[in-house]
Amino acid sequence: MFKYQVIENQEQLTCQKNHNSPITTVLFDDHLKNNERLLCNVCMQDFEGNVKIVGFQKVIQIIENEQKRNAESVEVFIKATEKNVQMLAINVQNLKTKMLSQLDQIEGVIQQWKNQLDQIQQSTIKYSFFEELDNQIKKKVSTSQSHVMLMKNIQTYNQSCQSKLESYIDQLMSLQLSNEYQEFKSYLKELEESSLTKFREQLKSQNFQQKNQNLEIQLIENQFLQPQQCRAISFNHSDEIMISTCDEIIRVFNFKNGIIEERCKLLGHSESVNCLIFSKFSNCFISGSADCSIRCWQQSENTQWKSSQPYNMHTGQILCIILNQKENELISASLDSTIKIWELNFKKNILEYQTQLIQHQDSIFSLSLNESETFLVSAGLQNRIIVWKKKRNVWVFSNFVKQSFCERCLKVKFLRDNLLLSVADADINVFELNNGVFQQKNDKAIELQRDHVQDSFLFPITQITDIYYWRDVRPEISNNKNYLVLIEQKLRYDDQ
Ligand SMILES: [Zn+2]
Repeated sequence: MFKYQVIENQEQLTCQKNHNSPITTVLFDDHLKNNERLLCNVCMQDFEGNVKIVGFQKVIQIIENEQKRNAESVEVFIKATEKNVQMLAINVQNLKTKMLSQLDQIEGVIQQWKNQLDQIQQSTIKYSFFEELDNQIKKKVSTSQSHVMLMKNIQTYNQSCQSKLESYIDQLMSLQLSNEYQEFKSYLKELEESSLTKFREQLKSQNFQQKNQNLEIQLIENQFLQPQQCRAISFNHSDEIMISTCDEIIRVFNFKNGIIEERCKLLGHSESVNCLIFSKFSNCFISGSADCSIRCWQQSENTQWKSSQPYNMHTGQILCIILNQKENELISASLDSTIKIWELNFKKNILEYQTQLIQHQDSIFSLSLNESETFLVSAGLQNRIIVWKKKRNVWVFSNFVKQSFCERCLKVKFLRDNLLLSVADADINVFELNNGVFQQKNDKAIELQRDHVQDSFLFPITQITDIYYWRDVRPEISNNKNYLVLIEQKLRYDDQ
């Protein structure tokens, strides 16, 4: 079990004035250092000041909890890697067995060959003096039957060994095309991808936690006025490209140090683009539109963007699209009340329709996959949240979520594998997965004050590590301000 361990012995820590009394309180003062921040009961008697103070045990607990969580994430990361490494080990064992048996065969043939030659060298074949004398006198070439036979035998044997070896060595060399080789490569690739994302997420999370200590959101006065509504925004994997919409047009911006600079406009859709989602690995994205079509977009080497054909399986507006972690599956939801599953190939810039999920009777606004991708949750106008389960690689209906409220659901989002958040007009609700059933946590509900204006299904909840947000679109408000809603994830701490 991996763990982080504290360097200082907490029992030996002394207060700022070195009293011989246990520490009780900690000053959260940025200007102090080390034990200047620690107070004992004696110190407390003449303490004065309006700095934030926290109980010593509480501080220890907070820090230890954090270290425990960090250690857990190391553990999870290692476990995930180990799984892959285990598969590689099995695979290489198979490969080794195959190659060794092939090499064994080759060695066997060579050994036999050598033995055969040795045997011949050791052997003696008899000839008759009188016969040979007769041959000499008659100037006849020695045609002893046994000699001819022997030479022929050696030659035949050589040939058979030669051809055996040739075929075995060919088989050995062609092993590289076999399943094991392909599998091995794919496990390596998988490992590389999962480590990359996991590491990137971890780093992001660390950076964010540091910044988050004094979270402050600043408005950068860098505006782009556009004649029509913006319905979606997405950033690429390096946060250097931002895409947004202006009715049926997709606008591509360079994004650097918070400054956006328009690069181009992408045309293709014939009606409003409702959703955009960038790949986490490459400069490719997917768009879903009110024209009922989905398109894949790919940046070519000369930074031009190329659209796929429009995919028109839906008969209503596309309202939501999500990707799985490997980015080989796209799930789309629509005004036509269906969810469609697509096989995605970002490299080839193509989608392939697989199947549809039918259970909703009205528009579907929002979709979310849990982290291990065993559950898909969908919600919309019909006042029900639906859970879908993955069974033998196929999504099947599981159940309706039992909920106390009865109103349309605008957004659903898994915070973790077993924690689901839903946003309705009036409140945010939390559901916990216990023994395969989602249970509403009434004590964790958050009431929203919406001033009688409505949010929309647009701008799905997005996660910046521990903080989840969405843009609350309120076009009705006269001064036309939009809101960014931040939900700090306190839930995580409540659990412990
Ligand atoms: Zn003291």
